[in-house]
Amino acid sequence: MTVAVLALQGAFAEHENVLKRLGVDCIELRQAKDLETPYDGIILPGGESTVQGKLLKELGMFDTIKEQIENGMPVLATCAGLILLASEVEGQEGCHFGTIPMCVRRNAYGRQLGSFYTEECFDGIGTVPMTFIRAPYVVEMDKDALASGNGQILAVVNNRIVGVRYKNQFAFAFHPELDPDTRIHQAFLDCVKDSIDLA
Ligand code: GLN
Repeated sequence: MTVAVLALQGAFAEHENVLKRLGVDCIELRQAKDLETPYDGIILPGGESTVQGKLLKELGMFDTIKEQIENGMPVLATCAGLILLASEVEGQEGCHFGTIPMCVRRNAYGRQLGSFYTEECFDGIGTVPMTFIRAPYVVEMDKDALASGNGQILAVVNNRIVGVRYKNQFAFAFHPELDPDTRIHQAFLDCVKDSIDLA
């Protein structure tokens, strides 16, 4: 199994460290030719979604990655990555990949609560540490997506949705790669393994 980490900007090294600790091979996606190396899943790290979105287009990587995700490639996205996947960003025209039918709010916790740590329940895993850094949250997920079972809310903190799954895409407002608990990455890797077994 090989997991590709988008390494244009932001906190990609932290995800690579988790993958190393879990004994998973990883490659970095830095330019269009990296997309030719075979891989089984993608990680979209935190950082600045507007910068990442711009670089993806400028480097000619956007369309291929969007297509891979639409075709079912498993994705784990944190923070800015969650914004890249959202079909709607509040107060903003258009979206980036737009592969998860949900509306997100950027920098949603304001200045005072810009960064914080908590421990909350995560569906199917239990209590996990959650580190938020100028985080977004999910305002709502499409009702039909939820009703069909394709969409699932995985974590809620202070009545705000901070973790979702849509088909093979996992998106979190917090940063599981910054805490020693590896269970969320492990759950993602289980999904990658299942999708390899199905292929
Ligand atoms: N505020 C950033 C954005 O809007 C996300 C912050 C992060 O990834 N830690 O893209």
